[in-house]
Order: sequence, then C-alpha cells, then structure tokens
Amino acid sequence: MERFIDRCRQEGLKVTPQRIAIYQVLMGSRNHPSADTVYREMTGTHPTISFDTVNRTLLTFAGIGVINTVESYSGSRRFDTETEPHHHVHCVKCGRISDFNDLEIDALKVPERITREFDIIGHRMVVSGICTECGKKMMRDK
Ligand SMILES: [Zn+2]
Ligand SMILES: [Zn+2]
Repeated sequence: MERFIDRCRQEGLKVTPQRIAIYQVLMGSRNHPSADTVYREMTGTHPTISFDTVNRTLLTFAGIGVINTVESYSGSRRFDTETEPHHHVHCVKCGRISDFNDLEIDALKVPERITREFDIIGHRMVVSGICTECGKKMMRDK
C-alpha cells in the first residue's frame, strides 16, 4: 500500500480515499478482476460510485504502472496488482486467472527473429486449461 501511495505521488496523481479504496479492492482480489467486478465490490462500501469512475481510475492506475492490464481472454479487460514479472494460468470455463512463477520459463530465450525486430521488455507464458473445480462440475453435469 505504501508503495502504491509513493508511486501515485511520484506520478503526480492525487491519493484520494476513493482511489485507495479501489486499489484495496484490487489488492484483495487475487483473481485479476475486471472493472465490472471491482465496481460491484465497490458499491458495497461506496453506494454512489459510478462504473465510469471505477473504470477510469483503473485505467489511470494502469497508465502510471501501479497495476497492469492483463491480456483479455474473454472480452473484458482484467487488472493485475502484481507488477513483478510472472506467468498466468487461465481457466477457459470460469475465467479464473492465477499467477505462477517458474525460473525455467523465465529463462526461455526469445527467438532471434523477434529480438531483431523488437526490444524485448518481458515475456509471459499463459497456460490455458480447465481448473479442478470446473472439471468436477463438468463431470457432475454429464
Ligand atoms: Zn474454472
Ligand atoms: Zn497476474
């Protein structure tokens, strides 16, 4: 949280109680929430907040790099408070996105034909699959 506040100040972004509350909701959700999910959770404590405010705040956070946007797998943009490099495993059924780290994957080399054209700033592996819970549900529904 302190890092978040420092970072906002550095970037000249005013740290308002509302912005802190939005960041806290993000931090509390380990599931890379969409703006809609954050909004729904925010209305519990901030009944008058609008979706637009939440969405704009999230984009502002992403713009100054305190959070990341995540490749969208099913349409809506998702947000990630983990700004250190990491990889994702994604359930194609429920849309859950979890983080994982793996040194072997980190060490993978980007092909030369790409490094010739791009200055590489990072690479991430995205594993797609069906999580245990969804797998069980599919078995039950059969
Ligand atoms: Zn799932
Ligand atoms: Zn992540």
